[in-house]
Amino acid sequence: MEEIIKEEESVNESGLNFVEQEIAADLAAGKNGGRLNTRFPPEPNGYLHIGHAKAFIMDFGAAEKFGGTCNLRFDDTNPQKEDMEYVNAIMEDIHWLGYDWGDRLYYASDYFPRLYDLAVRLIKEGKAYVDEQSSEEIARQKGTPTQPGTASPYRDRPIEENLDLFERMNKGEFDEGSMVLRAKIDMASDNMHFRDPIMYRIIKTPHWRTGETWKVYPMYDFAHGQSDYFEGVTHSICTLEFVPHRPLYEHFVKELADETYCPRQIEFNRLNLTYTVMSKRKLLQLVKEGLVNGWDDPRMPTLKGLRRRGYTPSSIKDFVNRIGYTRYEALNHIELLEHSVREDLNKTATRVSVIQNPVKLILDNYPEDKTETMVMDNNPENPAEGTHEMPFSRELWIEREDFMENPPKKFFRLSPDKEVRLKGAYIIKCTGVVKDENGEITEIHATYDPDTRSGLPGADRKVKGTLHWVSVPTATDAEIRDYDRLFSIENPGAFDGDFRELINPDSLKVRHNAKIEPWLAGRIQAGDHYQFQRLGYYVVDPDTTPEHPVFNKTVGLKDSWAKAMKK
Ligand code: ATP
Ligand code: MG
Repeated sequence: MEEIIKEEESVNESGLNFVEQEIAADLAAGKNGGRLNTRFPPEPNGYLHIGHAKAFIMDFGAAEKFGGTCNLRFDDTNPQKEDMEYVNAIMEDIHWLGYDWGDRLYYASDYFPRLYDLAVRLIKEGKAYVDEQSSEEIARQKGTPTQPGTASPYRDRPIEENLDLFERMNKGEFDEGSMVLRAKIDMASDNMHFRDPIMYRIIKTPHWRTGETWKVYPMYDFAHGQSDYFEGVTHSICTLEFVPHRPLYEHFVKELADETYCPRQIEFNRLNLTYTVMSKRKLLQLVKEGLVNGWDDPRMPTLKGLRRRGYTPSSIKDFVNRIGYTRYEALNHIELLEHSVREDLNKTATRVSVIQNPVKLILDNYPEDKTETMVMDNNPENPAEGTHEMPFSRELWIEREDFMENPPKKFFRLSPDKEVRLKGAYIIKCTGVVKDENGEITEIHATYDPDTRSGLPGADRKVKGTLHWVSVPTATDAEIRDYDRLFSIENPGAFDGDFRELINPDSLKVRHNAKIEPWLAGRIQAGDHYQFQRLGYYVVDPDTTPEHPVFNKTVGLKDSWAKAMKK
């Protein structure tokens, strides 16, 4: 986790990452009849974040690459935390990134009968027992990696008694926490997960799919590998924290599999991103405590949040491809994600003029009743996108920050007696300002040079600065939500104290009277991306109404990735 990855991860000559290389080798060796079937197994207890995207891009991506299939399986084994709301949201997010499971939608709860039967079989074979100790006591007896554990006094209970108790556990005769079913493996194993792991626990909360049918629920380790097996999954790709679980995965799967087909687990490094947290528990806390405005708050690393912020599916895939898949835990720079979306939007976002912090500019020598129509490129990166018209008049809005009364030497924007070009229009010269009683500038006065209109003879006269502008009579107001990092330190996930103390209090700035050009006002649609000239990339927020356009800032124009690399 200490390591911040600064380079793209290497892949082999055929462009395959290490997981794909393993898959290719298995296919070449004819394992599982030459079949590839992956799966993405989210637990429906929260919304997907960009870390999950890294996981399912691998699962669906590998299936696509090798002509295999990928299942979507909801790991719904804990009715206390799970909900239908999350199931739908998860499906929507996977679709958003362009993946589809077709008819391969499964639920771990569909396997409850078969898992229960397997548990009964293991009891009958003397491989499982009912333990009546508390979870604290069981934990105490686990031992340490260097010291063997202590056997439970119930470990050698007769098989008939185990069968009877397990059945009655499932009928609801016993309280939650009063007993568990444990695998009888090896209390002295080097692998702590082999020290008689818990297979089943009692939960009395009704399940959103199976209702009151079950009172015992399988633990992850007893459900996951078998579910893979039941579905015909060949490659079960997950994150590194499951490495120590792999022997147990293989142990339980062996109870079912034979030499013709056996699923295999492969682990890669999880995605951790600077200035945010990725734990579902912490994200849930941010939402529940109102520290952000919901799961789709544009500051959240959830896919819903990123979407609302203006991230595109291709920018997320590009980022995941750049950071790659390795066997080392790492912390990735958010600047690289921003770099990816900037690159994508630079190619696709329409350029428009918006003034976010307006001050009035008056051209004293421009006729009061005159309007001209200037022609603006929709995207200089792609001339096929064409142009649009923008009215020009005597009164214009410009950015307050583009004017300084007493500028430092290298200030090339507007100041008294200095010239700038108004983008796509004329060169102007500042002649003075008007201030209110508080000394705040209310009007900037200037004259324009009629011989310098862009695109006409004389336009080649050069000045250092170019400002964007919007004509006052035709401008409309808009709201702009400007976001900063949600956390004020690079790695809040690794902080020992209360992570909420690290929230950046200035992570959201709202501007209510931005001025937008009429062409943009006439085509506002939630989800559309724009480049606001000189300001950055913005997306139309779903809160938008025809009377009240709302934009979220996705990223600024300046690429901070190169700078982050040097740190
Ligand atoms: P928890 O299990 O604590 O509820 P989780 O984030 O692991 O949280 P799951 O629904 O189990 O949630 O995750 C589904 C899949 O996504 C798992 O295979 C997991 O390995 C993977 N995954 C989760 N977080 C990340 C991450 N940050 N980077 C990459 N993959 C991840
Ligand atoms: Mg998990």
